[in-house]
Amino acid sequence: MRIAVGGFSHETNTYATACSGPTPLEAFRVHRGEEIVATYGGTGSYLGGILDAVDDLGGSAVPALHAIAEPSGTIAASAYGRLRSELLDHLERCLPVDGVALELHGAAVAEGVDDVEADLGRAVRSLVGPSVPVVAVLDLHANVTPALVEVLDLVVGVRHYPHTDQYERGRAVVDALPGLMAGRVRATAHLVPLPMLIPTTPSAVEPAAGAGRVCAGVEQDERVIACTFFHGFSGADVPFAGSSVLVTADADPALARRSAEEIAGWVWEHREGFRPHLCPAEDAVRRALAAPEGPVVVADTADNPGGGAPGDGTHLLRAMLDAGSDAACLGTVYDPETVAAAQRAGVGQWIDVALGGRHDGLHGAPVRGPAYVKALTDGRFRIRNPMGAGLPVDIGPTARLGLDGVDVLVASGRAQTLDAEVFLLHGIDVRRYRVVGVKSSVHFRAGFEGIAREVLVADSPGLNSRDVAAFARTRLDGPRWPLDPSTPSPIPSPGGGGPDRSRQEDP
Ligand SMILES: [Zn+2]
Repeated sequence: MRIAVGGFSHETNTYATACSGPTPLEAFRVHRGEEIVATYGGTGSYLGGILDAVDDLGGSAVPALHAIAEPSGTIAASAYGRLRSELLDHLERCLPVDGVALELHGAAVAEGVDDVEADLGRAVRSLVGPSVPVVAVLDLHANVTPALVEVLDLVVGVRHYPHTDQYERGRAVVDALPGLMAGRVRATAHLVPLPMLIPTTPSAVEPAAGAGRVCAGVEQDERVIACTFFHGFSGADVPFAGSSVLVTADADPALARRSAEEIAGWVWEHREGFRPHLCPAEDAVRRALAAPEGPVVVADTADNPGGGAPGDGTHLLRAMLDAGSDAACLGTVYDPETVAAAQRAGVGQWIDVALGGRHDGLHGAPVRGPAYVKALTDGRFRIRNPMGAGLPVDIGPTARLGLDGVDVLVASGRAQTLDAEVFLLHGIDVRRYRVVGVKSSVHFRAGFEGIAREVLVADSPGLNSRDVAAFARTRLDGPRWPLDPSTPSPIPSPGGGGPDRSRQEDP
């Protein structure tokens, strides 16, 4: 049994395009052939799960191509065209195969291609033909379309945010392959698009947690192959942006439909719970310093590079400096120029900085002043939390600077702060700090669980703000809650008549 393995992953924040331009080819980390196994094999990532599952089935994984970039603006047409054709070339060289397992994100947008995953799905399908099963694992933040569901044999999303179940869900799509290949299993999927735009919401917090429990309950039925409540990604201004529920059953379209509508109905009923409550950075820092015990982790969610923000925002840093704490640290601020200046000066020297705030006026002005160069590193380490455990990280040369009592990690690469490893790399034990600022929305929780005494989310202006109303929506195919409070229910009423944007698929 030969299973081709590959992927294309990008969470596209179309609003970031105006600030940083289209995402170029160079932004992608591309692994080809055996490089995929060398990089992802044995890790707790999507591909780690896919590769292990192929092994456990006694099959052989045929690695094609995998491309991934940090979330950013719309993918340049030339970059997408190049990576698409390279992925297809590599897949073609893998033929003949019995199945294809892909890691896709589900919220990738390229210039001229709103639904990158469906476009890739169609291309892969036409390459391998209708009888070779093609399965994919998606991010929770996918804006899932009927076109994607239609063209693939099975689509499964992670259910946790932080995405600590990447490995398990990667395994799940491969585990379904033998049944699909042999024709013992006939996947019948039903997608219910939910007309709602929700902010970054941890899956352990209600009502997301409740939706997860309902999904897990549905998956207990052995006729159900997979079930996911996709939160969607509101940073993409595309017609189909929004949450959705996807259920795939074995040869039972009625069950898939009933289950998907049940979950979608539950989410819709509980939608008020997803409404964001915003806390300015100054308030978050004040509350953190007033806490009886540290460390309190403050998430700079609006400037999370993991949602397409520049990562060089200064609102939280400014709030930390103004609060005057001498037990505060922040990581990581993206500013290659400042890192270069620190390198030129060397450890133990003072430099004058204009830190961050280089990309636009939205994320705050540069912070100016003298900074002490405490440490310089290569910015390389491995993730040590359940979300992608073991994956190598390279944020480029990085400096630890002391700025008026605040320890700031300044990196040459844009990166979400996923766990405490990057602090340790620079000699910082976050347990000894009162306030720890991170450039992340939710994923940091996987790494700081057991460390943080409390977690606060700071909202400042930024491209990844939780305030979904802060962005102009020019392309939506219909109303969305909470922008339009009168958005009608996505579930058709029993007598018909209700709006029905759902779509039944029987691929
Ligand atoms: Zn995600």
